[in-house]
Amino acid sequence: MSFEPFAPPPRILMGPGPAAVDPRVLAAMSHALLGHLDPVFLGAMDDVREMLRRVFRTVNATTLAISGTGTAAMEAAFVNVVEPGDNVIVGVAGYFGARMAEIARRCGGRVTIVETAWGTPVPAERFQRALAEATGPVKAVALVHAETSTGVLQPLDDIVKLAHDAGALVILDAVTSLGGVELSVDAVEGGAGVDVCYSGSQKCLGSPPGMAPITLNDRAMEAIRSRRAPTPSFNLDLVLLERYWGRERAYHHTAPINSLYAMHEALRLVLEEGLQARVARHQRVHEQLRRGVEGLGLEFLVDAPHRLPMLNALRIPEGIDDRTVRGRLLAEHNIEIGAGLGPLAGKIWRVGLMGYSAREENVARFLTAMRIILGAPRMSRPRRPS
Ligand SMILES: *Cc1c(COP(=O)(O)O)cnc(C)c1O
Repeated sequence: MSFEPFAPPPRILMGPGPAAVDPRVLAAMSHALLGHLDPVFLGAMDDVREMLRRVFRTVNATTLAISGTGTAAMEAAFVNVVEPGDNVIVGVAGYFGARMAEIARRCGGRVTIVETAWGTPVPAERFQRALAEATGPVKAVALVHAETSTGVLQPLDDIVKLAHDAGALVILDAVTSLGGVELSVDAVEGGAGVDVCYSGSQKCLGSPPGMAPITLNDRAMEAIRSRRAPTPSFNLDLVLLERYWGRERAYHHTAPINSLYAMHEALRLVLEEGLQARVARHQRVHEQLRRGVEGLGLEFLVDAPHRLPMLNALRIPEGIDDRTVRGRLLAEHNIEIGAGLGPLAGKIWRVGLMGYSAREENVARFLTAMRIILGAPRMSRPRRPS
C-alpha cells in the first residue's frame, strides 16, 4: 500500500478559526530547524516576547507563548493562579466562558458563575452582585473578551474596576479579540488593565494553531510565586516557563521551533500593519459583510453595539437546512464557515473574518456563494401543499 503526498484543497477559511495565514508566515515556517537552546533561536524568542508586549500593549516582564493552543493558555492561567478552595467568579455567556468555569473547577476553585443569555454580554451588575455575595476573598474574576461561540464583544472596564476594588485578579480570554479589536492589557491610554491575559495564534494574530501568547503582571506573578503548593501542572508552570523564556534559559520543554518562526513572522506582520489599522480593517470587512448579508435578508444574532467584527453570528432563516448550506459552501465554493455550538447548534452560522482571512475578496466570494445557494431550488424549503 502506498500513500500519496497530502495536498490540502485551496479552502477559504471563514470559520471561527483557524484563519488563513499570510504566505510570509508559511515561508517562515519552512526554514530549517535550530536547537531550542541555540543562541540564534533564543534571539527569535526574545523578539517574539517583545513583539507580544507591543501587541498586548503591556510592559509585563512575564510575556511569552505557551506551546499549545488557546485552551493550553487558558489552562495555564487557571492552573497557576487558582489554588484549591479559592473563590473564582466566571462570566459565562457562551461556550468558552463555560470552558473557563470547567477548568477553574478542575483546579479546585470554588466557582461562581455569572450568566446571561448566549448572544448578549454579561452585565457588570451581575459581577458586582457575585462579588458582594462571596464568602471570603475572591481570588480571580474571569471573563471572555470576544465570545467566539456567540459573536459578542464583552465590555470590560466596569467589571475590571469592580474586581480590582474587591482585590481580585482579572483573567481575560483574548483568544479571538487580540489583533482584531481594541485591547490594552495595561491600564494606560484608557486600557482595561487586566492582570492575566492569554490569546491564541490562529485567530486574529494570523499564525497557525500551536502557540498561545500569555502575559501576567507582577501582581499575578506574585500570587503564583506565593502559592501554598507548586502548580500541579509541570508543563504549564509559569514560574518554570519564565525561567526558560527569561534570562536563565533553563530547559523546560522543547519549544515547537517552526511554530515560533511562524509566530515571529505573524507578529512582524501585525506590527507592520499597525494595531489600529488592523482593527480598522477587521471593522471595515465586517461592515462589508453586514451590508451584504442584510441584502440577502439574513439577520445577526447579536445587537449592533455588541457585535464582534471578526465573528459574525448569522441566524439561519426558517426552513433553511444548516448542514446543506455549509456542505455546499465547502464542496462547491471551497468556503468554510462555522456551525453553532451548544444551544445555538442549527440556529446560527458563524462567519469568521480573522487576520489574513479578513479580506474584501473573501467577503465578496462568500456573498456570491450564499446568493447562489440560498436562491437555488435544491434548498430544503417548506413544501407548498400540492
Ligand atoms: C478558540 C478559542 C479558545 C480555544 O482555543 P484553541 O486554540 O481552540 O484551544 C478559547 N477561547 C476563545 C474565546 C476561543 O475563541
